[in-house]
Amino acid sequence: MPPPTVPSAPTDAGPGSQAGTEATATAAAAAGFDALRRQDPEIADVLIGEGRRQADGLQLIAAENFTSPAVLAALASPLANKYAEGYPGARYHGGCVYADAAERIAVERARALFGAEHANVQPHSGSSAVLAAYAALLRPGDTVLAMGLTDGGHLTHGSPANFSGRWFDFVPYGVDAETGLVDYEQVAALARHHRPKAIVCGSISYPRHLDYALFRAIADEVGAYLVADAAHPLGLIAGGAAPNPVPYADIVCGTTHKVLRGPRGGLILCGEELAERVDRAVFPFTQGGAQMHTIAAKAVAFGEAATPAFAAYAHRVVDNARVLAAGLAAEGFAPTTGGTDTHLVTADPAPLGVDGKTARDRLAAAGIVLDTCALPYGERHGQGRGIRLGTAAVTTQGMGAPEMTRIPALFTAALRDDAAETARVRADVREIAGRFPPYGQ
Ligand SMILES: *Cc1c(COP(=O)(O)O)cnc(C)c1O
Repeated sequence: MPPPTVPSAPTDAGPGSQAGTEATATAAAAAGFDALRRQDPEIADVLIGEGRRQADGLQLIAAENFTSPAVLAALASPLANKYAEGYPGARYHGGCVYADAAERIAVERARALFGAEHANVQPHSGSSAVLAAYAALLRPGDTVLAMGLTDGGHLTHGSPANFSGRWFDFVPYGVDAETGLVDYEQVAALARHHRPKAIVCGSISYPRHLDYALFRAIADEVGAYLVADAAHPLGLIAGGAAPNPVPYADIVCGTTHKVLRGPRGGLILCGEELAERVDRAVFPFTQGGAQMHTIAAKAVAFGEAATPAFAAYAHRVVDNARVLAAGLAAEGFAPTTGGTDTHLVTADPAPLGVDGKTARDRLAAAGIVLDTCALPYGERHGQGRGIRLGTAAVTTQGMGAPEMTRIPALFTAALRDDAAETARVRADVREIAGRFPPYGQ
């Protein structure tokens, strides 16, 4: 069971080689893992353990997913060896014919998938994509309006611990105390008062759709750029299960590894007029050579995301999150905004007598893996009063309404801090997870 979760390098198969058949690749995967086990049992054991851990519990971390074997194969391909600074047709290194092909295909697929005039697939991560977006549009000291960190903003939206908070003057907007929804009137009022150079919309924990048209109108009124940091919903957008910010935002940033189910990495989408500035902001301004194996894997993921099967998946992700949110509410948890439109559910476990960190740790002991999150209002820095979960990974495994209906009661039982209850929940979690192995048996 571990070998399928561990990609291996094809033997002598370069791109287009006849040796790259499926059977050869499968054999190479097994052989590659066997070789690793012989050469480095210490790391092989770590990989086997991680494969088991992922298959053995309920993976509800909102930013995680199970990439396909095809994505893993691209990551472990010979492109991992290639240096290719620059862009296709304009590289600083020789031998880039296949690197160029991979990047051109990735860019074309990203543009088609999201309806964007321009795509840059080189950012190493979501944070790198945001850094490049700011570099393309801003100067140090510029004022930026973004969601506050306790309301769901990301570190790159002005945290003092991050480059964003040190180099720019961030003004936070928030959510309404009653509804938990973005307070668009406050956004507009702050924009008029502070005249920011850019407005950022996007969040790590906001479970509802954002009104991109309204953000655009506010940005236009004050002459600001609009940056959509769509790292979380990008996969839902690809599958038609969430609104697309591309027609509204000057720059859209995203990650390829969350609901989108690709390799770890970032993506930037923009119009033709900002294309050159964005490209130069990524390379050479904020990055060196791109990871060409990751770019090939992004191309594979974009290809997968363009299929009807992925659109159905994206909608199932949301359906599952809705069932989970309703079930948690029935158990006494308080989901923020009362529910969800996306893969995300954030909830206050206080009615069950625990804070987010205690809940996370007790759930982890029962094999249920999720995050804490900040909750708007009354949150102290780093406190993590709430819990945040997402349904991208369990939906990839094939779980649906029957499982989502069962899970909330398991949460409540695991939170009782009773060893016998925890053991019972652990057994139930194993039974459920065992029926949905992420990479087959
Ligand atoms: C995940 C996320 C990021 C950062 O992505 P990394 O790949 O972890 O750097 C940035 N912004 C938002 C809104 C995110 O959700």
